[in-house]
This record gives sequence, C-alpha cells and structure tokens, in this order.
Amino acid sequence: MHTPAFLGSSNLILDRRKFMGVAAGLIAAGVLPKHALALAAPYTFKQGSFDVTVVSDGTIMLPLSVVSPEAKPEELAALLGAQVQGDKAQFEVSPLLLKSGSDVILIDTGGGGAMAPTAGKLADSLKAAGTEPGAITKVIYTHAHPDHLWGTIGGDGKSTFANASFHVAEAEWNFWVAEDLVSKTPKDMQGMVKGIQGQLAAIKEKVTMFKPGSELVSGLNVIDTAGHTPGHVSFELAGGDGLIITGDAITNATVFFAHPDWKFGFDADHAGAAANRKKLLDMAASGKKKMLGYHWPYPGLGMAEAKDGAYVYVPAA
Ligand SMILES: [Zn+2]
Repeated sequence: MHTPAFLGSSNLILDRRKFMGVAAGLIAAGVLPKHALALAAPYTFKQGSFDVTVVSDGTIMLPLSVVSPEAKPEELAALLGAQVQGDKAQFEVSPLLLKSGSDVILIDTGGGGAMAPTAGKLADSLKAAGTEPGAITKVIYTHAHPDHLWGTIGGDGKSTFANASFHVAEAEWNFWVAEDLVSKTPKDMQGMVKGIQGQLAAIKEKVTMFKPGSELVSGLNVIDTAGHTPGHVSFELAGGDGLIITGDAITNATVFFAHPDWKFGFDADHAGAAANRKKLLDMAASGKKKMLGYHWPYPGLGMAEAKDGAYVYVPAA
C-alpha cells in the first residue's frame, strides 16, 4: 500500500529555526514554490454566541490516487481545478478557534512539526489571531489523524496547550489506544499509529470523552460522522440556521459535493463514510446551514445546494 510522506514521518520533528532555513533553501532551489511558506490570514465571523476564527496550519499535498482512487484522473483533475499540482492536489489544513463566554476552544490542532515546512504553522496563525496557545481552555477533536492531532504536543513531548482540557469522541479514543492496534496495522502505517498513540498518551490525564448527540458547550453539538475513522465526528454550532463543522466527513468540496459516493483514499469504512457524508450534505442543503471544511479552499466556508441528485458547493467567503 502506498503511504504518502506525511503519514509516515511520525519521528520527524524539526526544530523551527532549522526548518525555516531548510525551507528557504528549498524555495531558492526551486523545489518548493515561493508561496509554500505563506500563511493565510485568520478569517473571523460571528455564529450565534461564537466568534469563529479559521486559523491556518498551512497546506499538505495529497496524491490524486488518494483523493479519489476510483475516479477517472481527467474527471478528478477537472473537478479539482487550481488545487491540482502535477499528480497531487493541494489541501488546506484549517483548525478553528471558537470564543464564547469564558471558553477559548480549538477544534483540531494541525499537523505539528512532522508536517513542516508546508504545514505545522498553527502557533503562528494563533498569534496572528491574538491568541497564545496557553489561552486555549478546550481542545476538541474531530478525529485523531495526524493532520488534526499532531500539533498537540511540541518537540519536548509536552502539550502545547498547557491550560486546556482535551475532548475526544469515545469511539475514536478507544480505537486508537487499543494495545494490539500497532501489530494489526500494515508495517508502513505503524509509524503513524505510534505517532497518534504518543500524542494521545501525552494528554491522557486531561481527556474527557464524549458521544455523538451531546452538547460540549452551550450551542456546540456533536454529530456522528463515523466512517473516515471509526469515531469521526462533526459539530454543529447554533445560531441562525446553523453551521456544520464537517472535519474530514467531506475532505474536498468540489469533488465530494458532486460525487458524495466516491471513495476518499483515507476513509476507513467507505460505505459508512459515504452515508454520513450524504447525511451532512442533506442536512446542510435542506436546512440552509453553512458548512466549514478543514481541507477546503481557504477559509473553507460555504453552502450546499442540491442539484440533480448531488450537491453544488457555493463558497460563502
Ligand atoms: Zn484531514
């Protein structure tokens, strides 16, 4: 099985000054594009009682064969448009900062140093948004894949969010911490699993588990979207007609709005993922709810319109 570089590099934690130097060299040599280190500005809007800020962790490149293994390459490339670079597609990595009352909530933590130099920049984005990591009171996860979790601990192995409690879906936690998971995983994916387990072990004492259907803080509700991973969840924020924080239930807006049934290469359970993807799209289209996508073209805010048995993505920012 082909493993993209970003999933196999759990031990690669570069110190920040070193990586900036290395990246600058790669840009000078023409290996990385000039904009590889550019960081999108925080994008803020109001949703009910929440101040929502999209904070960028940077970008990652996924092979087209992962974006949709069964799609015809030409059809996939046409849907992805400007996101395609060679045989890969550029995916944004966009955690969220939510402020409501005394809560300062981070949804997902980006990829950390292992995904440098194009991702792992959450600390810089938080700073640009006027928030220090120590000010975060709650870190809530959609799921435990590296690009959503590995920004949790720093190079010293300690949590970057010293004053936060951590909130993980029970099914997701139980799946990844299982003692026999590494031995049951194909060899080339074992490094990723160990990396995930290391991050989860570091926050173990401060973890609260939750179930779909629960309300984590007033106006923040959990939606079951298992399939991408066994305990994957999305969230809905109250206010107006609602806002759905999709996580990786819909990893690409242009591709999976048009083809909700297509397989995404990293979905653990294709049928479950597709069913929950359609559930979210139907909820959003029929309820006129806004949607946020972690990997969609920045800042990833848009609406779903039902059309010919599928959906059209209408960016709202
Ligand atoms: Zn992801």
